[in-house]
Amino acid sequence: MSDDLFLKIIAREIPADIVYEDDEVLAFRDINPQAPLHVLVIPKRRIPTLNDVEEKDERLVGRLLNVAREIAVDAGYADDGYRVVMNCNEAAGQTVFHIHLHLLAGRALTWPPG
Ligand code: 5GP
Repeated sequence: MSDDLFLKIIAREIPADIVYEDDEVLAFRDINPQAPLHVLVIPKRRIPTLNDVEEKDERLVGRLLNVAREIAVDAGYADDGYRVVMNCNEAAGQTVFHIHLHLLAGRALTWPPG
């Protein structure tokens, strides 16, 4: 048994509003959305944090970005803009230790983030 919440979503043990899936990647709406569009894009293979990404993972991590962009474009945010973020470890606010991109769009996003 894994305590990785996102592995449970991949395995359909926990429900999620899935917006994209392929053999390697899953994307689903965040349960606590911070913008009108807030989607999490994850690899199906568990990598706990960005610190754990290795050279062999480069293509997979690039794929996460491409999927995030495709979702943003399909949702109509290509011109207005959108943000893609990955938090790494506690000080950055990471709470689920299975790497994920946050895709945020649909409101003005301030900088710097809190
Ligand atoms: P982090 O804080 O690790 O960067 O992001 C974790 C995200 O996962 C948070 O935005 C949180 O709202 C989201 N989250 C936590 N539990 C669940 C869940 O059970 N389902 C979904 N869809 N999102 C979740």
